Amino acid sequence: MGKFAPLTFTLVNTTRTLYEEGFLYARELVSDIRTNVITPLHTGGELDINVYTVSFSLVPDLRGFSSFPWDYKNDTIDDGIFIKWNSLPGGTLGSNGGSLVHEVGHWLGLYHTFQDGCTTPNDEVDDTPAEDPINANRGLQSCPGSFDSCPTMAGQDPIHNYMTYASDECRTEFTPGQVARLLDQSATYRFLTLTCPTNASRNATANGNTNPTGAHATVDSAPISSTSSSP
Ligand SMILES: [Zn+2]
Repeated sequence: MGKFAPLTFTLVNTTRTLYEEGFLYARELVSDIRTNVITPLHTGGELDINVYTVSFSLVPDLRGFSSFPWDYKNDTIDDGIFIKWNSLPGGTLGSNGGSLVHEVGHWLGLYHTFQDGCTTPNDEVDDTPAEDPINANRGLQSCPGSFDSCPTMAGQDPIHNYMTYASDECRTEFTPGQVARLLDQSATYRFLTLTCPTNASRNATANGNTNPTGAHATVDSAPISSTSSSP
């Protein structure tokens, strides 16, 4: 059993838009995409994920990209995730959907585990060992054996973490520190209301922030599994 974040999302709506150039190129046509796809389609509030499925034909290794929660207050329209359509479960890449989980991690405020390489504070999470981006750039097709690309720092590379680059099958876990960070970020920037308050949510409440919309993200009552997913 893997380690998961205690969040669930409910599918609210699916729309289909025929816009071939946007589907094929996505990130290379940002201004066109913004005008023709995002502006008319974007819906919901700060706790609603807008997910756009595209092909990224010009960048075959790209699986997706996401906005960060702290961008929301200044850029509502661009809040959301673009994901390679066939990386979803049942898609022709045969993956388990881990790429979308990775993007949701960004959307909730997580950096890559190889953020800033072998220097602190890396990804700003204490329990994800530092990782050299050169090693992380092994790509999304492989699941490497364990190694340590930052030998002067604690821990082996977190090759099974959702927030590194590896094959979808290889990425199976968030750490407790990442879960704490994404809940804190979500409470602060997306006004997520937690049943078990974190420091961040208490601060958000103290600052008078409330969730003004119907939240579609809810905190699951199940505790985070402490079972290791390492093979
Ligand atoms: Zn990423």
